[in-house]
Amino acid sequence: MDYFPIFLKLKNQHCLVVGGGDVATRKVAGLLAAGADVTLVATSVVTQLSRWVMEGRITYMPREFVSTDLYGKRLVIAATSNASLNQQIFQAAEATGVLANVVDDPDACRFITPAIVDRSPLIIAISSGGNAPVLSRLLRQKIETLVPAAYGRLARFAGNLRARVKSRITSLGDRRRFWESVLDGPISEKVFNGQDREANALFDSRLQQVQNRGRSQGEVFLVGAGPGDPELLTLKALRLMQQADVVLYDNLVSKQVLDLVRRDAKRISVAKKKGCHTASQADINNQLIRLAREGNRVCRLKGGDPFVFGRGGEELVALVEANVPFQVVPGISAANGCAAYAGIPLTHRDYADSVTFITGHRKNNGDLDIPWFSLVNNRQTLVFYMGLSSLRLICEQLQSHGLALDTPAAAVQQGTLENQRLVVSRLCDLASDVERAQLCSPTLIIVGQVVQLAETLHWFGKPARASNQTDNASGNDLPEAIPLFAHAHSFSNNHSAGES
Ligand code: SAH
Repeated sequence: MDYFPIFLKLKNQHCLVVGGGDVATRKVAGLLAAGADVTLVATSVVTQLSRWVMEGRITYMPREFVSTDLYGKRLVIAATSNASLNQQIFQAAEATGVLANVVDDPDACRFITPAIVDRSPLIIAISSGGNAPVLSRLLRQKIETLVPAAYGRLARFAGNLRARVKSRITSLGDRRRFWESVLDGPISEKVFNGQDREANALFDSRLQQVQNRGRSQGEVFLVGAGPGDPELLTLKALRLMQQADVVLYDNLVSKQVLDLVRRDAKRISVAKKKGCHTASQADINNQLIRLAREGNRVCRLKGGDPFVFGRGGEELVALVEANVPFQVVPGISAANGCAAYAGIPLTHRDYADSVTFITGHRKNNGDLDIPWFSLVNNRQTLVFYMGLSSLRLICEQLQSHGLALDTPAAAVQQGTLENQRLVVSRLCDLASDVERAQLCSPTLIIVGQVVQLAETLHWFGKPARASNQTDNASGNDLPEAIPLFAHAHSFSNNHSAGES
C-alpha cells in the first residue's frame, strides 16, 4: 500500500489553495463542502472563485504565493499551471510540515485526493494511488449505481442509535451481528422508504429480542476457497467470508482470497505439517468446536473444494457430534481450475469419456495405495492431487500396468494464479521434465489424451515455449509467469515445439 487512507476533519481548519483557474475552483469547492476555512492565493481568478470571494466564503490574496502563506495551514493544494511554482509550493510545504497536494503531479504530493461517492455521512473514497485517476472515476460510476442514495440516511439512523446499542449489547460479536441484521433487512428498508417511525419501532423490538436471547449460537461455514484466483470464489463463499468472525485457513488458500475475508475477522492459519496430519486434524476439529461454542461465526476456508481431498467430511462429523450447526459451500477444485487455466478439457468426445481424481499422497509406510489396473484406460483422464513427490513412481506404475509411454501428461503448478506454470510432456518424460523445471507444491498432475489439447487451447499466462528454449539452460531461475511446454512436439506432428 503506497498511501495510508484517512478522512480529514477540516471543519474551520485553515487550508490554502494556490491558483485561480477551474482546477482550483474544484478543489476549493471540495474544501468548502468539508467546512474548511479556505485562503486562496492567485494573481487572477475565474468567475466562480470571485463570486465566493464576494460572498465572503473564502479569503482571497490577489498576489503571488509566498512561503509564509503556509503558516498556520493544515494543508495546501497547488493548482497553478506553473510547474516550477507548484514544485516550490511543495518544497515549502514539506519544509514546514504542511500536507501538500500538487494537482496532477503524484511525485509532488504528500496526500492525494480520492474520487468519492458521497452519501454523507457515508463517504466512499477510491484512489489508484495517482496511477490511473480515470480508472478510479470509472469505478466510482459503478459504485454510484450500486449504493442507493438513501444510504446516507441509513448511516445517520445508525449513528443516532449507536450509543444505545453499545450500552445494551456488550459483546462485540453480538453487536456486529445485530447491526448486520438491522442494516441489511426490513429495518433498513423502512429507513430507505423514509418511514423512520416504523423503522424505530422495529429497531426497538429487535434490540429487545436480542437482549432477551442472550449470547447467540455460533456456526461453522465450511467454505471452498477455490484453487487461487479470487474471482473463482462463489458468491456464497464471498458472502460468508464477509460475515465470519474468525477464519481458519489452510496453506492452499491464496493470499488474494484471504484478502477478501472481512477485515476485522480474526485469521488463524491451520496449515498442516507433513507427517503430523492426525494430531493437527484433531486440533483443528477442537478449535472449530470451541470457537463456534463461544458464539463465533467460524469460516473454515479450504483450498479448492472442501470435499475433494480436503478432509471436510471429517471436520463435519466432529461438528455433528458436538452439535455445532454448519453450512458447506463448494469450491472450484484444483482439477477444474488447473484444467481450465491450462486449456485441458477434462473430458472430450474424441479423447476421454471419464475423469478420475486420485490422491498421490503416500501412506505412512511409503506406499501408494492405488488400484492401477482401473486407471489404465486410454479414454480416461487421470488427475493426481498431491502427486508431485511421488511423480516418478506414479508414471512408472502407470506404464508398467499398460498405459502407453507416449500418453500426453501435464503438470500444473499454482494453477489459476498469475504465476501458474505448466509443463506439458508425455508419461515417460513427465517426471524428468518436471524435475528440470523445478516445479514445486502445489502441483497437479493430469494424464490422458485430453492433455494434447493444451497446445491449441492454452490461453492463460504468457505464450508457451519449450523447456529447451528457455533463456536459462541451467534450469535455475526460471521465468515466473511463463508456462512451459516441454516436448510439446512429441504429440503433435504438424506443430513445432517452442512457438512463442
Ligand atoms: N481440496 C483441494 C485439494 C487439496 S489436496 C481441491 O479441491 O483442490 C492438495 C493438492 O491439491 C495439492 O498437492 C495439489 O496437487 C492440488 N492443488 C491445489 N491447489 C492447486 C493449484 N492452485 N495448482 C495446482 N495444484 C493444486
